[in-house]
Amino acid sequence: MSTAPILIWFRQDLRLNDNRALSAACETGRPILPVYVLDDETPGNWRAGGATRWWLHHSLEALGQDLAARGLPLILRSGTAELALRRLVHETKAAAIYCTRAYEPWARQVESNVAADALASCYEFHRFAGSLLFEPEALHTKSGTPFRVFTPFWSACLAAAEPKQPLLAPRKIEAFKDLPHSENLSDWKLLPADPDWAPGLRETWQPGEQAARKRLTAFLDQGMADYAQHRDRPDIDGTSRLSPHLHFGEISPHQYWHAARTKIASSPASSQGGQAFLRELGWREFSHHLLFHWPSLPEAPFQTKFQHMRWAQNPAGLQAWQQGRTGIPIIDAGMRQLWHTGWMHNRVRMIVASLLVKNMLVHWHEGEAWFWDTLVDAGLANNAASWQWVAGSGADAAPYFRIFNPVLQGRKFDPEGHYVRRFVPELKDLPNRFLHAPWEAPEDVRTLAKVTLGDTYPAPCVDLRESRQRALSAYNEMKGQANA
Ligand SMILES: Cc1cc2nc3c(=O)[nH]c(=O)nc-3n(C[C@H](O)[C@H](O)[C@H](O)COP(=O)(O)OP(=O)(O)OC[C@H]3O[C@@H](n4cnc5c(N)ncnc54)[C@H](O)[C@@H]3O)c2cc1C
Repeated sequence: MSTAPILIWFRQDLRLNDNRALSAACETGRPILPVYVLDDETPGNWRAGGATRWWLHHSLEALGQDLAARGLPLILRSGTAELALRRLVHETKAAAIYCTRAYEPWARQVESNVAADALASCYEFHRFAGSLLFEPEALHTKSGTPFRVFTPFWSACLAAAEPKQPLLAPRKIEAFKDLPHSENLSDWKLLPADPDWAPGLRETWQPGEQAARKRLTAFLDQGMADYAQHRDRPDIDGTSRLSPHLHFGEISPHQYWHAARTKIASSPASSQGGQAFLRELGWREFSHHLLFHWPSLPEAPFQTKFQHMRWAQNPAGLQAWQQGRTGIPIIDAGMRQLWHTGWMHNRVRMIVASLLVKNMLVHWHEGEAWFWDTLVDAGLANNAASWQWVAGSGADAAPYFRIFNPVLQGRKFDPEGHYVRRFVPELKDLPNRFLHAPWEAPEDVRTLAKVTLGDTYPAPCVDLRESRQRALSAYNEMKGQANA
């Protein structure tokens, strides 16, 4: 047997279990050389934001430890992935590169370039499915076009062949001994310093494959049965918080799918919650389907009429939104949760996004960029599709006139105010009745609660009723222009 190694190019699949590229490489009997390339240079690459860089550092550390326990080092290189891989193939005389597919437009371009290089330089290049349940090319409408609407897309998923059973990590991985140089993870400076804004992230998260599996198990045992009732409640720890683990591929959608299905089968009481939980994975699939077929999704409105939308320039308002100082409690709680923990509850993401793009008329690009930098789960497909969904410009988007009223949303989904009190403690002594709209509280009630608007807590940055009307007028004007 030749000793030419196979490079396992880790990307958004930072796991050893259910990693088909790794398992297939091990089956060949060749020695394995695991590699990760930090690519900030390939054109079109949305350079990872601050929070995902923090996660990536710890996830690579965890992967490195899991590999080291099996006698394999993780080789780190930076630069354009294509060039870094070409160099590594040359240095190690590798016979092949194996990887899991990725779906961002730039990542697909890199894959094509590596494939071309492999052909020209006579090594093998194999790509494996593993980051989605259903490959985007495999699903289409009856007329053969990509899906634009979620419900028929999800029906097609459910009617398709059952996703493959997840694989266990290979029992034996033969290590390539003639090691090439590796860069140091710490030299990549993925962690924030001066200032270190990550204490809240450290308190909240444990990146890595083992932690991801623990989180999935804990959610299936403790959260899934009530998921359908709890998933919209930011005051309850009722969702899985698997999103960053899924984003980095520390857990595969197949592991998620089959674990949830097994739980549903063994515990009928969890069926309703389980189906709702599987459906959310469907939204992740749908976002990737959209990005794959409409690669301009992160930049351009899916519905072209939105090119005519007259957005407002509002740097002060945008800053207040980013900092959680809008004077609207549920918004400020969400934006502070995001800043502190790198994550925000889905219901609150929708409310804060609606305020920004509708009441404040700020372009969804601004919100998308802020989330990109601050979310630990920031992903091109989910982020872009969700922002466009809220803005009304996306595929199957919320109708434009559905403008969330953050006060009513707060009262409905955070009825006792636990969520707002946790992240906006300066309002904690307000009675529940006024907590979501402190400006409605009589002066003496605010005084008793030590709340002075414009001093201890901001006055609301927009008038909700007027700004709703303004948004609807802007929308009608846009429609008029698009039809002209
Ligand atoms: C404006 C906006 C921006 C968003 N940006 C991102 C993003 O960058 N990355 C991201 O992963 N999610 C994004 N979401 C979707 C959603 O908010 C998160 O996936 C969810 O809050 C993650 O928490 P969880 O893991 O506890 O979800 P759960 O409720 O436990 O759901 C399980 C999994 O399903 C998937 N999922 C759930 N809801 C959605 C959804 N609406 N769209 C797509 N997938 C979903 C996620 O992978 C999630 O981990 C965004 C939503 C909005 C409204």
